[in-house]
Amino acid sequence: MSAAVPTRPDVAAMVGYHSPQVDAEVRLNTNESPFPPPEAWRSDLAAEVERVQFHRYPDRHATGLRQALAELHGVGVDEVFCANGSNEVIQSLLLAYGGPGRCAALFEPTYTLHGHIARITGTAVAAGRRTPDFKIDLAEVEAVVAEGAPTLTFLCSPNNPTGGADPPDVLEAVLTRAPGLVVVDEAYGQFSPHTALARRSGGDGARLAVVRTFSKTWAMAGARLGYLVADPEVVASCEQVTLPYHLSALTQAAGRLALRYRGDMEARVSLVATERDRLAAALADLPVTTWPSDANFILFRPGHRPAREVWEALVARSVLIRDCSTWPGVEGCLRVTVGTPSENTRFLAALDESLS
Ligand code: PMP
Repeated sequence: MSAAVPTRPDVAAMVGYHSPQVDAEVRLNTNESPFPPPEAWRSDLAAEVERVQFHRYPDRHATGLRQALAELHGVGVDEVFCANGSNEVIQSLLLAYGGPGRCAALFEPTYTLHGHIARITGTAVAAGRRTPDFKIDLAEVEAVVAEGAPTLTFLCSPNNPTGGADPPDVLEAVLTRAPGLVVVDEAYGQFSPHTALARRSGGDGARLAVVRTFSKTWAMAGARLGYLVADPEVVASCEQVTLPYHLSALTQAAGRLALRYRGDMEARVSLVATERDRLAAALADLPVTTWPSDANFILFRPGHRPAREVWEALVARSVLIRDCSTWPGVEGCLRVTVGTPSENTRFLAALDESLS
């Protein structure tokens, strides 16, 4: 039965974003933390839930959470904006700075949702290509910027799905050439040696907006919380386009309390980074091509057997990773999220069998 009212034609023509979920004992497909947050955080949150006034709307300005984040990063409260996951932060930026008649630039292959959310908000997308080893080339930056005069230019560092972080000279070059906001998605920022946060002070830095999430390193994908560190004017514009009371009292409390456990987060990050390096070393001995990763996942291309078949053989062994083999720019590739040490060992054994 067709609906009485047709959907917006541009939305109807879009392909949605799905991460196929298949039952598997080892789930290494969505770049989450393999470890849960600390037990003590759970107890803190349970106690806080007892105190929540559920008949009242939450603090519209998420003051406590933003203060705690401002302290973490050594910035003002007015430089922090919070939303339901970093995807909602990205949506808010695009609602405020994109829209019909405006353009967002990005460098593919990169996080699919940057372009997808842009199109949903009616923003045109100017897509540049990365080099064959997934770096951002300055001539390409110049071409894309000249073509689109973007009001937003997206970087993703470390880049999903390819894994590499942008070194400071790339950020510098993009900031100099891009006319509008430069949005650096640092969903995996704590895994990387580089962050754009330090570059925010002074001059051009006011055009730099850094997006982070609690979904990965903070081990809280289920809570849906992300944030932006940016110039107060950018924060104010994001607030202008969000719905009133968009961030629940529970989400605010979950994030505020998590920040008390920064040491645990750093310990998790370092364990995951060690495991990532172990995985990378093991992959180097298998018939696959890999790329260096500064994140909690590794992209690889099987050499002898089609990627889809390898993915299916892994699923048959109850190991689920991400099949990127039909994604533009990473054809024939698979992406594995770093899991617990035993999950990684199981993945490596299953992969060894699946490649032949
Ligand atoms: N940015 C990047 C680069 C990501 O990989 C993801 C999650 N896959 C997100 C943003 C969205 O994260 P969330 O909405 O859970 O904060």
